[in-house]
Amino acid sequence: MKGWLRDVRRIESPNCDARPEGERIGLIVIHAISLPPNEFGGAGVIELFTNRLDPATHPYYVSIVRLRVSAHFFIRRDGELIQFVPLEARAWHAGVSSWRGRERCNDFSIGIELEGCDTLPFDERQYPVLIDLLRRLRRRFPGCELAGHADIAPGRKTDPGPLFDWRRISGQKDPGRPQIMARTGIQGVQGSSEQKDH
Ligand SMILES: [Zn+2]
Repeated sequence: MKGWLRDVRRIESPNCDARPEGERIGLIVIHAISLPPNEFGGAGVIELFTNRLDPATHPYYVSIVRLRVSAHFFIRRDGELIQFVPLEARAWHAGVSSWRGRERCNDFSIGIELEGCDTLPFDERQYPVLIDLLRRLRRRFPGCELAGHADIAPGRKTDPGPLFDWRRISGQKDPGRPQIMARTGIQGVQGSSEQKDH
């Protein structure tokens, strides 16, 4: 099947389906997730995305065990990158959402989950992996914009949260940057050497 990145660990999720006919990928959505909440390193996220979560393992799991969700990618705290859904398929990560007046962002987006939460900084090892992944995705889908889950589902979602460092990735030549800069108040952040790849 098309849409699996080379040299990336693959764990197939059944929680995906076809994108609408002729749909173009135009958005990358950054998320944060940790299971159990605020705990890192366990198998919870992988189990959730593959419908193998055991509700007996943690009280919180009882409330989410019936969810059928996924993302295309998951970046763990140690920088490990896992792909769950091929790029051509629609992963189920955004939920009720809207971007530039278009609803159902799953139709036209790629979802990247970072192992993290609202109250702890992301691990330094996650950013280089994310930046490299974004570079690969944009090479494949030129002009793809970038948003946080909170940007497309305001009031409902907060991830990737206030501690996600948008400046680290807005150093790239980024069509979504005006929105990010407007939202975070970032002024005059100069691009890095990574710009030359675009
Ligand atoms: Zn999210």
